[in-house]
Amino acid sequence: MEETTKIFRVAIIGAGPSGLMASYFFLSDEYKELMRKVHGNFHITLFEKSSKIKRKVCGEYLSPFGVQILHKYHVNHILHGFEKLFGMILYDVKNQRAIHTHFHNNNDNNNDKEIRQSAQGPYGVSLNRELFDQRILETVLKKNAESSDECFRILFSKNIVKILPKNSTEFRGNSENHQWTIESDEGLEGDFDLVILADGRNSHLGKSLGHYEQTESHRMAIHCYLKKKQQHNVRFGEMHIFPDGSYCGINPISTDEVNFSIVIEQPNRHSRDDLIHQLNQRIDQSKRLKLLFDPIKLDTAALTSEEFRDTKIKTSFPITHKNPIIAKNRIVSVGDASGFIDPMTGEGITQSLISSELLVKSLVQFPDLDRALDHYRKSKVRYFRTKSLLNRSFQKLIQHPQLVSMVSLILSHNQRMSDTLMRIIGNLEKPLPGLCKLILLFFRGLTLTK
Ligand SMILES: Cc1cc2nc3c(=O)[nH]c(=O)nc-3n(C[C@H](O)[C@H](O)[C@H](O)COP(=O)(O)OP(=O)(O)OC[C@H]3O[C@@H](n4cnc5c(N)ncnc54)[C@H](O)[C@@H]3O)c2cc1C
Repeated sequence: MEETTKIFRVAIIGAGPSGLMASYFFLSDEYKELMRKVHGNFHITLFEKSSKIKRKVCGEYLSPFGVQILHKYHVNHILHGFEKLFGMILYDVKNQRAIHTHFHNNNDNNNDKEIRQSAQGPYGVSLNRELFDQRILETVLKKNAESSDECFRILFSKNIVKILPKNSTEFRGNSENHQWTIESDEGLEGDFDLVILADGRNSHLGKSLGHYEQTESHRMAIHCYLKKKQQHNVRFGEMHIFPDGSYCGINPISTDEVNFSIVIEQPNRHSRDDLIHQLNQRIDQSKRLKLLFDPIKLDTAALTSEEFRDTKIKTSFPITHKNPIIAKNRIVSVGDASGFIDPMTGEGITQSLISSELLVKSLVQFPDLDRALDHYRKSKVRYFRTKSLLNRSFQKLIQHPQLVSMVSLILSHNQRMSDTLMRIIGNLEKPLPGLCKLILLFFRGLTLTK
């Protein structure tokens, strides 16, 4: 009797893209019935500490593969009205050299047939994060309302502060546990069979549970929105690499405004003026940035209230961390909480979608929960291994201006190579075959120039 009435209770902590899309996958036509068959009736509670969905510090670029995932699950309406991006301009500031790259490839040989058929060609998207996250939530709520058993709820203004073994007052790291009690700063929120940490880069819960490892990087991001000097509708993102190893990412979110962020070694001083100084220094160094933007005004008193609002400067630190655990004792991490390398390649949102998909796919595959979570952990590590290695190599490469000069020189003479590199970064080419292709294109280029 007990068996038939038991409900499998899932807590998801954090309503960013990873927590929201995990919720969607649970309710989706693809996985909901399977989930029921394998784990019985289930109920999901999504806890979010903010009182509503908010715009976050983010470059707001969704990579082509992220776009394709939304197409694959028929929820691409989430992107309605957002501008498309067709490639990236890589800018080597030392040599003032611009390399135009494209996502498109006439010999598109994406291995995922489903994805290839559902999308209309590879493109990235310039998002507004508040709108994007809000639309995912609306899609989840609609899906929930359409079903006879409403098995999802979202609770805002719930800052989860503790995850405790059921009937216990302290967390014992090694204890085998099958149920967790969730506590917010308002009190106990209930018992759950599975806890999904989707609480982002700074995952305080991950830290308290040992699912977090600080890396040695002392880099920080400074973020703002800037008005362009001239309006134009060039639909390319930009990445400017500076000789000191810092970089700047630009996403043209509208004809006259860009999402602008720089990633630098953490400076000693963090006042608004210091941060503006760091931004202006970068604008001044790059001919192209100088062409696009006026220096940001330092004198706050001289700003109109509109200008002051428009140049709201935000910082993010640390921007890199590892999660050595990912899944243990029925607590599992997705999105940034499961590890974040650096925003350089603009894949955080896409990786959030991928990790949430991998988790729900693993859950519907194995009735044994521990086995399912172990499968998720392994598949996540496997999926991101080569890409993580590649991203770390980019991090190392940009610290060496001579190497950047050499690579940018090679890329500027070989369009197919630079497009292939961009397709690897945009997850349109698998990293290993993509790298082999790059090497091949390099040698072919050499023989042609001889
Ligand atoms: C400068 C910068 C630029 C970036 N640019 C890009 C880009 O252009 N493209 C891209 O794809 N990615 C980019 N990223 C990365 C991207 O922002 C993240 O990868 C993405 O937001 C991860 O989504 P998430 O759902 O895992 O976490 P988040 O979006 O951080 O969401 C976590 C949620 O959890 C909530 N939360 C946290 N703690 C608790 C708690 N204790 N209780 C309840 N709720 C809690 C938070 O309020 C938040 O809503 C950038 C990152 C930085 C720093």
